[in-house]
Amino acid sequence: MIQNDTFRHKGLRKKLVEEVRSKGITDNAVLEAMLQVPRHFFMDSGFLNFAYSDQAFPIGCGQTISQPYTVAFQTQLLQVSKMDKVLEVGTGSGYQAAILLQMGVRLYTVERHRGLFLNSKALLESMGYHPVCVYGDGYKGLPGYAPFDGILVTAGASEIPEKLIDQLAVGGRMVIPVGDDNGQVMTLIEKISPTEVKTTNHGNFMFVPLLKGKNG
Ligand code: SAH
Repeated sequence: MIQNDTFRHKGLRKKLVEEVRSKGITDNAVLEAMLQVPRHFFMDSGFLNFAYSDQAFPIGCGQTISQPYTVAFQTQLLQVSKMDKVLEVGTGSGYQAAILLQMGVRLYTVERHRGLFLNSKALLESMGYHPVCVYGDGYKGLPGYAPFDGILVTAGASEIPEKLIDQLAVGGRMVIPVGDDNGQVMTLIEKISPTEVKTTNHGNFMFVPLLKGKNG
C-alpha cells in the first residue's frame, strides 16, 4: 500500500473540490473533508488522473468507488454532526467512509465482499481512522449497534429495507438510492416519530446494486 500525499496530489484535490462546488455542493464541512482525504489512496496507484477527476472508477470485485460529486451529494444530504453515530452500507473502497470519519462521526460500515472489507478496513486503520468495519449483509443493518443518527446506503436498492428504517433514531436521516439497474432516485427518509417517516426525492443517480447476502 503506497501512501504518499504530495503537493501535486493536494493541488489536484483542490481543483476537484472546486469542480464539486461548482456542480452545486455548498456544505463547507463536506468540501473541507474532501480536501483533506487523499482519494488516490483508495485506488490502484497507477490511476492518479482518475483519482482526481470527478468520475466513478472500478475497485475490483465488480464494484466501483463512487463519483466524488455523488459522495459529496449523499454526505451533504445526510447532514451529519460531529459524534453522530452513522451506519454506511457498502464500504467498497472506504473512500466515502473516510469522508464521514474526517467529519468526526462515529462510523459503522458494512461490506458484503470479503476482499473489499479486508482492504478498506486495513487502509482506514492505517490512515488513523477508527471505524467499526463489518463483513456482512448491510441489507439487515446492524441491529446490535442501533439506533443510528444517520444511515447512508452507497448501492442502489430495489426497495427501502424496512430493517434499516427500524434502526434509524427519531430525528435521524437515511440517504438511499432507490431504483433498478437503469438508475436510481436519491431518496431521503427522515424519521419524524417512532412510527412515521417523511420521504423526499433528490434527483437521479447510477449505482451498483444493493444485493442480499454475503459474497466470498
Ligand atoms: N462507499 C463505497 C461505494 C462502493 S460501491 C466507496 O466509497 O467506495 C457499493 C458497495 O456496496 C460495493 O462495494 C458492494 O459490494 C456493496 N454492497 C452491495 N450490497 C451490499 C449489502 N447488502 N451489504 C453490504 N455491502 C453491499
